[in-house]
Amino acid sequence: MTAPLDLSPRAPSASALGPVARAGGRDARRLKVSFEFSPPKTPEAEENLWLAIRRLEPLAPEFVSVTYGAGGSTRERTHRTVLRMLKETSLAPAAHLTCVDASRAEVDSVIKDYWDAGIRHIVALRGDPPGQIGGAYMPRADGYANATELARAIARIADFEVSVGLYPQVHPESASAAHDIDVLKAKIDAGATRAITQFFFDIDGFLRFIDQVRKAGVTIPISAGIMPVTNFKGLRRMAAPCRIALPDWLGNLFEGLDKDPETRRLIAGSVAAEMCARLEEEGFDDFHFYTLNRADLVYAICRVLGVREETAS
Ligand SMILES: Cc1cc2nc3c(=O)[nH]c(=O)nc-3n(C[C@H](O)[C@H](O)[C@H](O)COP(=O)(O)OP(=O)(O)OC[C@H]3O[C@@H](n4cnc5c(N)ncnc54)[C@H](O)[C@@H]3O)c2cc1C
Repeated sequence: MTAPLDLSPRAPSASALGPVARAGGRDARRLKVSFEFSPPKTPEAEENLWLAIRRLEPLAPEFVSVTYGAGGSTRERTHRTVLRMLKETSLAPAAHLTCVDASRAEVDSVIKDYWDAGIRHIVALRGDPPGQIGGAYMPRADGYANATELARAIARIADFEVSVGLYPQVHPESASAAHDIDVLKAKIDAGATRAITQFFFDIDGFLRFIDQVRKAGVTIPISAGIMPVTNFKGLRRMAAPCRIALPDWLGNLFEGLDKDPETRRLIAGSVAAEMCARLEEEGFDDFHFYTLNRADLVYAICRVLGVREETAS
């Protein structure tokens, strides 16, 4: 005789739940988050950007950063955006800066202007040739050749926090992860105080890479770059020159949804939340969100991670 089925209500066992639900079951956590924005091109884009900033501000990120367009094309807009953040919000803004198409003197003068204006954090990058990610980079004879030289210049000029890029799937111009780790160490010797990773989708590969970086003696904070993907075709165009592998499962989730942005957004939030929650379970506690100037998905993912506005009790 078979035993009667037990149909009484009960909580599902924790192991039956996925990483997001398990995240909701954890107590007191304080993960670190930061948000990346791009400088707006139009008044309407500016309004949307500021709605996003205001929505995310109460989450008290470690810092927020503003990108620098290829070839310094957004120099004025990047400058204006970080200064407005500094003046009108409680946020700690970081300005991205690249070496592209500028002399050392020009770059130094931008760095000094930032310091004088009260900016204390620069994301130091080499940049890519304009309109040609992955193309051969030709440094100007009178310019900084790479992010190591730029980080050194920033540290020489003032006591900035200096973040630099890190590539869990190997930089497209690099021969190996070991070379990338050597470059990171050179950037740290030059003055880098934090690394922010390129976005990625291979969590196990990311964790193995971070393990290698730590084993090589790197102790500075590393923020995992998280891209909530809503447009898979756009992502494919962006990822190919950067040699970022896109897993089949991700493409499958978005298949047939070209004309259904609402469902794509739901899937994007769910994938990114699951990635973050899984990374947290593996002990990772520092996330940098590529917001694409929108707050809704990032806000939801932060809630999953237990990052919430302080409420008066
Ligand atoms: C978090 C993040 C934010 C970004 N934001 C922007 C942005 O706002 N604007 C933009 O245009 N691009 C941005 N990028 C893209 C970035 O500019 C490109 O990935 C670019 O190809 C490399 O920049 P990098 O600073 O990592 O280069 P580097 O670290 O300078 O590396 C470039 C090449 O130089 C070599 N190299 C560097 N230092 C040394 C050294 N000491 N010894 C030997 N070789 C060395 C490396 O091996 C590599 O092949 C961003 C990337 C990341 C990860």
